[in-house]
Amino acid sequence: MGRRMKSLPAAALEFFSQRKELGENDFFLSPAFSRSSFLSTFQPPSPDKPVGKRLIPSQTARPPQKIAAPAALATAQPVSEKREALKQLFFGFRECRRCALGATRIKLVFGSGNAQAQIMIIGEAPGADEDQQGLPFVGKAGQLLTAMLASINLDRGTDVFITNVVKCRPPQNRNPETSEIVACSECLTKQIEIIRPKIIVLLGRIAAGTILNSTESISKLRTREHEYKGIPVMVTYHPAALLRNPDYKKPTWEDLQKFRIIFDELKE
Ligand code: SF4
Repeated sequence: MGRRMKSLPAAALEFFSQRKELGENDFFLSPAFSRSSFLSTFQPPSPDKPVGKRLIPSQTARPPQKIAAPAALATAQPVSEKREALKQLFFGFRECRRCALGATRIKLVFGSGNAQAQIMIIGEAPGADEDQQGLPFVGKAGQLLTAMLASINLDRGTDVFITNVVKCRPPQNRNPETSEIVACSECLTKQIEIIRPKIIVLLGRIAAGTILNSTESISKLRTREHEYKGIPVMVTYHPAALLRNPDYKKPTWEDLQKFRIIFDELKE
């Protein structure tokens, strides 16, 4: 009997899984998502509504991007010093047992996206889907994050690099403990040093508390602009919080709009 051919998505997933095992970590498997699926569940406020001191100009809207097909897609990045440095960092942490999470993880979730991105997004910790695939933000919250980025015309494969405060899944998705965050901080610090983004976006209380060394709530932190080692930092709600509490969608949309304007100003 002839060998049964794998479906294209299954074959692609296997291929990229093998590449990842070989350390080719600088690519992105795009989960199926729909930009409209985010926007349809959320009615953005008027584009001319003032946000903070800034006015959101309606003319800043760019033409809609192509929506990724619901199959595993790869965005290969050019070889670069940053990519090589990230690869070496990944090799250094691939077998990491600096904290107890190393013993229970399936896969270490180092990060994904463009090593040369100007935007770095930092979340909390991998969940079950991320632990299985070794990639950050690939579950429901990840699909929402992808749609959130698309809503401000950003592509998560080319425009951003995404990672978490801790690289291994805490059991039962509990919050990472302080000792685990401290143990993993070397990896995150080096990732930021290598990528040297123009702006950092922190998703949720754990990421904000870690990078900004603050115990303030997200509702307070999101109203101010911050800085980490000279890099502008913005704070907003974690997509998982939006899934739990739809009331966070409106302030998050405002944050996204504000972020897009600040990022465009930084690029100029
Ligand atoms: S969470 Fe970080 S410090 Fe702990 S084992 Fe994983 S990579 Fe190492």
